[in-house]
Amino acid sequence: MKTLLLPSGRSIPVLGQGTWAMGENPARKRQEADALRLGMDLGMTLIDTAEMYGEGAAEEVVGAALAGRRAQAFVVSKVYPHNADRRGVQAACERSLARLGTDHLDLYLLHWRGAVPLAETLEGFAALKLAGKILDYGVSNFDLADMREAAGLPGGAAIAANQVLYNLARRGPAWDLLPWCRAHGVPLMAYSPLESSAAEQASMLGAPALHAVAARHQASAAQIALAWLLRQDGVVVIPKAVQPAHVRANRAALDIVLDAQDLADLDAAFAPPRRATPLDMR
Ligand code: NAP
Repeated sequence: MKTLLLPSGRSIPVLGQGTWAMGENPARKRQEADALRLGMDLGMTLIDTAEMYGEGAAEEVVGAALAGRRAQAFVVSKVYPHNADRRGVQAACERSLARLGTDHLDLYLLHWRGAVPLAETLEGFAALKLAGKILDYGVSNFDLADMREAAGLPGGAAIAANQVLYNLARRGPAWDLLPWCRAHGVPLMAYSPLESSAAEQASMLGAPALHAVAARHQASAAQIALAWLLRQDGVVVIPKAVQPAHVRANRAALDIVLDAQDLADLDAAFAPPRRATPLDMR
């Protein structure tokens, strides 16, 4: 699996697996853990989760998937903003570690900005890193102004990633946030790369231009949407898939090479940003 370098010098895989909504239905937990294991077998060893997902239930699914193979995985979790004060973040991390059945996270993110001063969260993250409970820390749903502010705080230079909503239909981050992240060596993790909800997904993946490009590559529209993200420097992509066919298709998207005509056709259907726009968020 291709990797990117984090500011710490550690590597992060460019394609991983999301877990939002996993664990919410107990009858599906086994199938979800199997999907994550299949993804790991195929090289998608980065697993992205959060204490918020199913209020811990998604982390339990990840824990089941990791049993016996933790060393292979790159585990990302996120702390709720309301738990992100200096002491709260330690306790939240311990709870996540227990649910995940591991003694450390590869990357721990602030899920979104809340009322707790950022400096306090960064202090908490730094203490967790020193204790070996997390190997890197970062943020999520931070726009350019947030990133600039965070980078200037003590511990801010170590911010290892920013996870944001970024896909073909929501190209805003490409205007200013992605260039800033690239310039500072901070990978941008693209969440909801397939637009997540059925209605929004149908709108993006139903675009005729996407289907035309997909037909040229004997691929699906979803695979082209992922390949479009995966070809961009400094971007990590974390689709969530439970159906085994989806898991396999997502891994195969890494091997699709889009050419200039493909990119021009996609630009014509999904306009690149022409000015700064507020960051979209789920
Ligand atoms: P997504 O990955 O864009 O879309 C997931 C949906 O796409 C599921 O319904 C899945 O179906 C389907 N799918 C997956 N692969 C497919 C394929 N090859 N062809 C057709 N359909 C496919 O949406 P997401 O879950 O919102 O985002 C991905 C991950 O990003 C999340 O799971 C979470 O880890 C993270 N995230 C982070 C934030 C944040 O605030 N930081 C917010 C949202 C999401 P099946 O499951 O049935 O296979």
